[in-house]
Amino acid sequence: MCERCPISRRNALKVALALAASPLLRYAPVYAADAEVSEIAPGVFVHQGRYEIQSPGNLGDMANASFIVGSDGVAVIDTLGSTVAGRELRAAIRAVTNKPIRYVINTHMHPDHVFGNAAFKEDNPVYVGHHKLARGLASRAERYLAINKQMLGDEAFQGIEIILPTLAVDGSQTLDLGGRSLVLETQRTAHTDNDMTITDSATDTLFLGDLLFSVHVPTLDGSIKGWLALLDELSRKRAVRVVPGHGPRSMELPGALEPEQRYLAAIANDVRRLIKEGKTLEDATKVAGFSERDAWKLFDQYHVRNVTAAFAELEWE
Ligand SMILES: [Zn+2]
Repeated sequence: MCERCPISRRNALKVALALAASPLLRYAPVYAADAEVSEIAPGVFVHQGRYEIQSPGNLGDMANASFIVGSDGVAVIDTLGSTVAGRELRAAIRAVTNKPIRYVINTHMHPDHVFGNAAFKEDNPVYVGHHKLARGLASRAERYLAINKQMLGDEAFQGIEIILPTLAVDGSQTLDLGGRSLVLETQRTAHTDNDMTITDSATDTLFLGDLLFSVHVPTLDGSIKGWLALLDELSRKRAVRVVPGHGPRSMELPGALEPEQRYLAAIANDVRRLIKEGKTLEDATKVAGFSERDAWKLFDQYHVRNVTAAFAELEWE
């Protein structure tokens, strides 16, 4: 098979079979980005990302990505963490429908949600995001590219480019897909300063992006106070189902939000207490929020960074 070609599911299967048959190849990386998608509501499809950090083996397939099919066209919500994985997602869409891909929506600026954008260039879609997304992503582009090149490796990094929104949303905006519309709403600073939620009118499905983590520990890159306040508002929303940025394909309010609210509140409460007691950031990174350690995957990879961000914010209250 062509090692540098986009990986079809058939080829991925072939690789897996070849590896199983050949013990000498047992340690070769398996390039099998799983673009398996499930229809969680009529015309609403979700691919579930892995609970991992990016690696050559997972091609940056570590966040959820969705697409919605209307009578006039398709909207994609987030594109996975590499162009190679984005192509897998595009192939999964094409297996479902030949309707034009009209919109590629990014819920926020993080690479695991936007680095597959280039896979959709040939569709000439409108790229859509929060009005602050472009500024945030452009200012971090160099660092994001360097880190991902290192972690994904040359092969999985191929074709990645920064594609900024061509439609910037400020407040609320509706996209018509034919027979159904998507309501986009920009949110206050929470997970990042450029989080946007999307509601599919036909099925009352609410896409929360990384405002909702489940199983995968939340990551804080915005404001812990803003995030807790926003979760309080979201918990009063009525939607038939919600789709998290990381976690199962479909969940229900308000229960879906509760573990994340508990996690963020534990950090905020512990950090506030430690600051009051005159403790340092270093002290806080050793104890704050550690009651949550067993409740989350990837805790060791992200928790100390979350405490650090929370400390910097809450120190100035
Ligand atoms: Zn994120």
